[in-house]
Amino acid sequence: MSEDFYSVLGVSRDAGEDEIKQAYRKQAAEYHPDVSDDPNADEKFKQAKKAKEVLTDDQKRQAYDQMGHERFEQAEKRGGFDGGGAGRGGGMGGMGGAGGDPFGGMGGGGMGGGGLGDIFEQFFNGGGGRGGGGQSGPRQGSDLRTDLSIELEEAAAGAEKQFTITRPETCPDCEGSGHPESADAETCPQCDGRGQTTQVQQTSLGRVQQTQTCRRCGGDGTLYSEDCSTCGGDGHVRNEASLSVEVPPGIRDGQTLRMEREGAPGENGGPNGDLLIEISVRKHPEFDREGNDLAHRAAISFPQATFGATIEVPTLDGTVEMDIPAGTQSGETFRLEGKGMPRLRRRGTGDLFVRTQVITPDELNEDQRDALEAFAEAGGEEIEVEEGFFEKLKHSL
Ligand SMILES: [Zn+2]
Ligand SMILES: [Zn+2]
Repeated sequence: MSEDFYSVLGVSRDAGEDEIKQAYRKQAAEYHPDVSDDPNADEKFKQAKKAKEVLTDDQKRQAYDQMGHERFEQAEKRGGFDGGGAGRGGGMGGMGGAGGDPFGGMGGGGMGGGGLGDIFEQFFNGGGGRGGGGQSGPRQGSDLRTDLSIELEEAAAGAEKQFTITRPETCPDCEGSGHPESADAETCPQCDGRGQTTQVQQTSLGRVQQTQTCRRCGGDGTLYSEDCSTCGGDGHVRNEASLSVEVPPGIRDGQTLRMEREGAPGENGGPNGDLLIEISVRKHPEFDREGNDLAHRAAISFPQATFGATIEVPTLDGTVEMDIPAGTQSGETFRLEGKGMPRLRRRGTGDLFVRTQVITPDELNEDQRDALEAFAEAGGEEIEVEEGFFEKLKHSL
């Protein structure tokens, strides 16, 4: 076991840098192997040198003071100090864990695990790429999206809808290869035909390989003397496609239909992506929709509301007659069963709710006015109608 650095140099723990250097020079002169005949001169000289190195380096001296001689020497043997910041961080983490706080310990472990995970992920991704043998394999094309507006009647009955979209398609001239058949091929010098490039990074855990698709050849591994003039080397062209989709009865506003394999073309023989069609159902002048039910507002006159009547009500499959009883109030609701929307891909149909609204006349002819005044008087109501009231009302509207 070696001796405490302060006692090696014979200085106090609060000695300044100059004092330490002076003490070292004295020791060095005394124990230098060339001049000393002390049998332990070599060892003593090395110890003095080491003590001076640590105590004149602010960071090392601080660590030495905090840890004490023994732990400092152990940590130094593990390479914790000359390794720089990362090494010291590791040491601190270990001390936190040993402190016995289970949450602190877990946190430290979790973070360590994350860091390792990242690096292993990079490592294995790189390995997987290399194992794949260079050029990238078949890849499914991406999904595309489009919107389609339909009428409420179409949402109720279902419909086959035609529409067009502009989408990338495999170039018809080069069949997706991006170059004419006559073009000269050359192995990509950037990646030696592997389609991928590998970078080696130095991390705290050692050397880690990272593999990326080659930028020069785009992963093909081959460069061609000429690009396809139709697609410019892309392998895709944008085309307008006419499609037709079956809209099922009961579909709601905002729902999405999926047409398989009608999306963007796949790469290297992979399948096309899908086409997602977001349906919007246009607002209807007669009906509000709530789930599978519909609502309609029916205007009725005061005599109809009073005496009862048979009124005509629109539905999605034609006009029907509906009886309203005598004494119906404004805002009363009647249900027409099964006259709503069908349930999507299930049995059953919603209802149509008819809400009455009694219309107050804003214009009366003379006979109507007389009758209404008589009506009010007969009911014991005293009303005073100014002469010319209705004429004035008429003009103000
Ligand atoms: Zn390449
Ligand atoms: Zn082409």
